[in-house]
Amino acid sequence: MKDFWLNLFFPKFCLNCKKEGSFLCYDCFSLIEILNKTYCPYCHPAKPGKTCFSCSETKFLNGLYAATPCSDFIIKKIVSQFKNNYLKELSSVIASIITTHLYLCNISVNESFILSFSPCTLKEKKKIGFDPSEEMAKELSILLKIPLINQFSNKNVFLVKDIFEEKMDKLAEELKKKGAKKVFALTLTRD
Ligand SMILES: [Zn+2]
Ligand SMILES: [Zn+2]
Repeated sequence: MKDFWLNLFFPKFCLNCKKEGSFLCYDCFSLIEILNKTYCPYCHPAKPGKTCFSCSETKFLNGLYAATPCSDFIIKKIVSQFKNNYLKELSSVIASIITTHLYLCNISVNESFILSFSPCTLKEKKKIGFDPSEEMAKELSILLKIPLINQFSNKNVFLVKDIFEEKMDKLAEELKKKGAKKVFALTLTRD
C-alpha cells in the first residue's frame, strides 16, 4: 500500500531506457553482463579463480566475487545514480545482480556464511545520507538468507562493497583476527 502511494507521487523510471515502473526494467537488467567466474583480486585480469597462490602469501582476502565488468555501461549508470544521486532504492537492484553472479559461479551459500560490509567514511555517510555498502548488505541478507552480524568466529564472511578496492584487505585481516575462517570480497564491480 505504501509502495502504491509512493509510486503515484514519485513514479520510478528505468535508469537506462526511462521506461516507467522500476529503477531498472527487466529488459535492461538482462543487458547487464553478469560474470560467471572470479579472478584473483590482486592480479586481474591475468589469473582466474580465487586469490592466487603468490598473492595469498601476503594478502588476507581469500577471493573476490565481483558481479560485473566495470566496462558495463548500465553498471556505470547504476553506480553513478547510487553514489551521486543518493538513490538508496538501487541497493535492491544491486543485490539482485550480485546474487545472480553467485548463482552463476555455483556458490552454495550455506549457514557457515555471514555478511559484513566495508563502511564508507562518516563524512561520506553524512553527505549521501546512508552507507551504500550497508544498504547493499541488508538487501543481500534478505536474498541470500544469511545474517548481517558482527560475530565472525568460525564463519566465512562476505565483505560487501559497491566497488572493490585493495584496502578491503586490511578489513579482511581484522576479521580474521576476530576469528573469521575465510573472507571474500563481494562487490558489484571492480576498477
Ligand atoms: Zn530499461
Ligand atoms: Zn594474484
